[in-house]
Amino acid sequence: MLYPKMKKRTYDDYTVGWVCVLDHELTASRALLDEEHDPLPPRENDDNNYILGRMGKHNVVIVFPGFIGTTSASQTVTNMVRTFRKIRFGLLVGVGGGAPAPPSHDPRKDIHLGDVVVSFPRDGHGGVIQYDMGKWLEGGQFASKSHLNKPPLVLVKAIKHLQSDHNFGKGQMWEYMDGVAKSNLPALEGFGFPGQDLDQLFKGDYKHVTGEHCSSCAAAQLEQRAIRKSTRPEIHYGLIASGNAVMKSARRRDELRRKEGVSCFEMEAAGLMDNFPCVVIRGICDYSDSHKSEIWQPYSSVVAAAYAKDLLRIIFPEEVQRTPPAQNRFSQDSPSRERSKGSELAHSTDSELLTRLAELEMKNKGLEEAVTCRTNESMGLKQKLAALEQAYNSQLLPRSYAYIPSLESPAFGLLSANDILKIIKTDRDAFTQGVATSKTIPVL
Ligand SMILES: [Zn+2]
Repeated sequence: MLYPKMKKRTYDDYTVGWVCVLDHELTASRALLDEEHDPLPPRENDDNNYILGRMGKHNVVIVFPGFIGTTSASQTVTNMVRTFRKIRFGLLVGVGGGAPAPPSHDPRKDIHLGDVVVSFPRDGHGGVIQYDMGKWLEGGQFASKSHLNKPPLVLVKAIKHLQSDHNFGKGQMWEYMDGVAKSNLPALEGFGFPGQDLDQLFKGDYKHVTGEHCSSCAAAQLEQRAIRKSTRPEIHYGLIASGNAVMKSARRRDELRRKEGVSCFEMEAAGLMDNFPCVVIRGICDYSDSHKSEIWQPYSSVVAAAYAKDLLRIIFPEEVQRTPPAQNRFSQDSPSRERSKGSELAHSTDSELLTRLAELEMKNKGLEEAVTCRTNESMGLKQKLAALEQAYNSQLLPRSYAYIPSLESPAFGLLSANDILKIIKTDRDAFTQGVATSKTIPVL
């Protein structure tokens, strides 16, 4: 039998970049491709992993980096848009931690595990803030860095359209999710709905007791929320907070929700938003508190991917063609140009360097995770102390460390949680002097 000769695909046939980080996110996204294409030969200076395929009417590049965190996601996307020059925009598809508001009368408005949060421009910002970067205001208040770049018009229009489709019960993401649930692929085992009884939101001041799950945590400490009639996920549109560390503090979560209006926390978007025209789509897999577990990650990855596929469904390829290639934004924003834009962006570049230094330092000392706490010489003593307290109060892990780099001086150090506690509780003045001179910061 003779097969018709297929047109050979090239890098330039792909127009949508789809960014995943975790294995679950990749599996769920790959499962939703309508057709998978043969890989293209790897290019020099590009170590990324790619899965190529078609989703609806669009040729999509699914890319996945090897590490979690904003710095590596940024490098991954830089490589992708250099290799695939016709990519017009990106979808950041995966899981995130929810920032639920106090229970409302309408259970559909409450953020539940398995729901989706989509970054959407509002009040002059582009839908994403970087909560571990920003500037100190008079009086010691910290203002998170807001990413003003909005998603490209084609995505903003499509999101509004899809919101209306869903209100009229016209979306197709539920069918896409059903397709995954009915699949017999071994790779998709365990990607089903975990069950409403495993969706537990504890009161903000109640900490996780012990173990991987919440079997030892007190049921009396659960928030009482109205029960939804349907297990179908709800879609929330709002502000996503991005940072280099995992958010595991209900106190800090609630503070950022109240002050900034944050609906979700994640770890990749901030490294990309300045250059990459994209939208962030997060399936909620935990409540960003100490009760965090991984049970919901597979299912929430599917929900996020199903929403992203539904979004592509209503975008015409002609609209994509009319959108400028993402690569243009990258070549316009060379590092030297970025510095000339102002001190905030210059700070951002320094900060990436310092984050890498911190990672190296942590690796050398065998630490698993650190709270990043940045100070510089222009900050007053009160502000430096506030930065340290903020880092400590985040309580990301029992083994938490604060990293105190100084932008104007090479001196930096890692403080153990115990040291910080001691300093904050008993030796405040001595520490304040230590920060001021950058000489007496104890290094582990
Ligand atoms: Zn718990």
